[in-house]
Amino acid sequence: MNTEKISKSPIYKLFGSSNNIYIKREDFIPISFGGNKARKALYFFNEIDNGNYDCVVTYGSSSSNHCRIIANMCAMRKMNCFIISPKEIFKETFNSKLMNLFGAEIKQVLVNEVHDTIENKLEDLKKQGKRPYFIQGGGHGNIGTQAYFDCYKEILIFEKKNNISFDYIFHASGTGTTQAGLVCGHLVNKDLKKIIGISIARKNPRGRNVVLDSINEYLAEKEIIIPQNIIEKETIFDDTYICDGYGSQDNDLAEFIKYNMINHSLPLDTTYTGKALWGMNDYIEKNYIKNKNILFIHTGGGPLFFDYLKGYKND
Ligand SMILES: *Cc1c(COP(=O)(O)O)cnc(C)c1O
Repeated sequence: MNTEKISKSPIYKLFGSSNNIYIKREDFIPISFGGNKARKALYFFNEIDNGNYDCVVTYGSSSSNHCRIIANMCAMRKMNCFIISPKEIFKETFNSKLMNLFGAEIKQVLVNEVHDTIENKLEDLKKQGKRPYFIQGGGHGNIGTQAYFDCYKEILIFEKKNNISFDYIFHASGTGTTQAGLVCGHLVNKDLKKIIGISIARKNPRGRNVVLDSINEYLAEKEIIIPQNIIEKETIFDDTYICDGYGSQDNDLAEFIKYNMINHSLPLDTTYTGKALWGMNDYIEKNYIKNKNILFIHTGGGPLFFDYLKGYKND
C-alpha cells in the first residue's frame, strides 16, 4: 500500500454565495470510510509496517473514528488491536460495532483509570513476549501532525494547478494535530491564509494550548525556528460552536445536517463536521467576510452520520 498515493483527497467547489466555498473531502481517503484519522493512521502504520511490532494499543471513546480505523487496519494485517475506552460515555454506535466487527479487544474503564490501564496493558503484552505499538488517542503526536503538514502541501498543489488561492481554511479541531499540521504548513510556506479551527469539545485556553503544544513539538523535532508571537497569532481556535459538547444533541444542528445531506449531498455528523461547517458559516457572517476563497476540510466521521440518522424522527 502506497501511503502517499492513497492519502490524497479531492477538492471541489461546494457552492458560491457571497464567497466561493470549496471543500476538501478527507472522508474519501480509501481506508475504513476515510477521514483525518485515516490520513494519520496511514502514517502510523507506515512506521508499524517498517518496524518490529505485532499488535497495537490505543484509546478512544465508543464513537471514536480513530479507534475504528486503527482496528480496521490491524484486522487487515491480522494484528491484535487493544482499545481502552472510557466507561462513562460508552454507548453502542456504528463505530463501536465496526470495532467489534474488526475483532478489536475493547476494554472499558473509568476515565481516570485510562492512563494506568494503558501502561499495564503495554507492560503485560511485553511480558508475554509481544511487541506492542502504542498510538495516542486521535492519532496525537508528531506523526499525526506530519500527516496534516503533508495535507497542507496537497492544498498548495491544488491552488497552483487551479490558479486559485484560499484566504481561509476551516475545519473541526479536537485533539489538535490536524490543526497543528495545517498551521505548521502555513507557517513554513509563509502565505496569507487564515486557518480557523472550530473546536468540537474543548474550551479555551486549554483547547488552543494543546494545538500550540503540538505545533511547538513538531517544529522542535524538525528544527524549524519560528518566533513564538507569530505562532500564537496564526493559531486560531474558536470555541463558540461546541453546542452541548462532544456528541451534541442540539436540534438546530440536527436540522443543519439534514439540510446539507439533502442540498449538497454532504454527510455531516453531530460531533465534528456538523459543528465545524455550521461554525464556519456563522463565523463568515459575523465577521462580514465577503468575496473570499474559502476551503472547508471535511475531516470524515462517515459512520457518525448513520448514528445521526438512527436518531432521526420523521415529522
Ligand atoms: C478526530 C476528528 C476531528 C478532530 O481532529 P483532531 O486532529 O483530533 O483535532 C475532526 N473531525 C473528525 C471527523 C474527527 O474524527
